[in-house]
Amino acid sequence: MSDSSRRIRMRVTGLLAGATLLTAAGCGTGAEGSTGSGGTEGGRPEITAAMYPLQWLAEQVGGSDATVTGLTKPGVEPHDLELSPQVVAGLESTSLVVYIKGVQPAVDEAVEQHAADRGFDAATMVTTLPAGQGQGHEEEGGHAGEPGDGHGDEAGDEHGDEHGVSYDPHLWLDPSRFATVATKLGEKLAAADPAHAQGYKDRAAKLSADLTALDKELASGLANCGSDAMVTSHEAFGYLANRYGLHQIGISVDPDAEPSPARLAEVSEVAKREKVTTIFTETLVSPKVAEVLAQEVGATTAVLDPIESQPATGDYLSAMRQNLTTLKAALSCS
Ligand SMILES: [Zn+2]
Repeated sequence: MSDSSRRIRMRVTGLLAGATLLTAAGCGTGAEGSTGSGGTEGGRPEITAAMYPLQWLAEQVGGSDATVTGLTKPGVEPHDLELSPQVVAGLESTSLVVYIKGVQPAVDEAVEQHAADRGFDAATMVTTLPAGQGQGHEEEGGHAGEPGDGHGDEAGDEHGDEHGVSYDPHLWLDPSRFATVATKLGEKLAAADPAHAQGYKDRAAKLSADLTALDKELASGLANCGSDAMVTSHEAFGYLANRYGLHQIGISVDPDAEPSPARLAEVSEVAKREKVTTIFTETLVSPKVAEVLAQEVGATTAVLDPIESQPATGDYLSAMRQNLTTLKAALSCS
């Protein structure tokens, strides 16, 4: 290493140390049980994002002014995420945890216990829809008295029931709501890091415009369809259905739970009545149940991505456009 590069590195290190000191002094950390200090890395906000769509959103808004760490690794179904003690402890020093209460119980609990004053719950930024918007998700259905399902009294596999919220948490599948979350996150970061406020606001505005354009594409693409019934393997698409005039019939609300025979019979009946030609399966969930159902009602299957995890290729926007293409073909949209 040449002397000059070493000098530069030392200077940079010195600057970073200074910035850290300044930040620490400004935030008044150090006291036991202090809250609201927020983690900083040389002054940059450190954002922890609970799952892929929120991580993507935070990266777009944060840009080079913030660091974003995701809690859910690519390819992992996020609902049953478990967090290691180290990860949970790490929340003590993060600036902001971007999450949606009701999606991941482990995250909800960790935020409550370690980052209660630094949680950014996207569900509080938008108008939510009630859980089980589709139909027939009442708990008293097939679960009651079902032997050996291991759930005991907690038979309901409703996200809402199980995770302590009464709304459907899959709000990122409506780009117009997601645009609102982007704007709010931009405002939040601008207030937390005033030196870079304009950057956060500009990037949030750009993202919001991209999401609004996507929303318009979906609206026009799904405006004239032969069918409005989407049978999905996991009831994740309530917001998309609600926004674009479709009707979701979810086989299961819990991606990991086998639906009861009663529920399957019910969905099969609806699918036949509505002349459903496609049963939608998901990227991270076994398509077995959907395939059996498709065979029974004489339909084919196609993959819809609930974008709960990072798509194999592309990002949130391209995955949503792929969903639109899939929906248009399956529902005979002109
Ligand atoms: Zn889900």
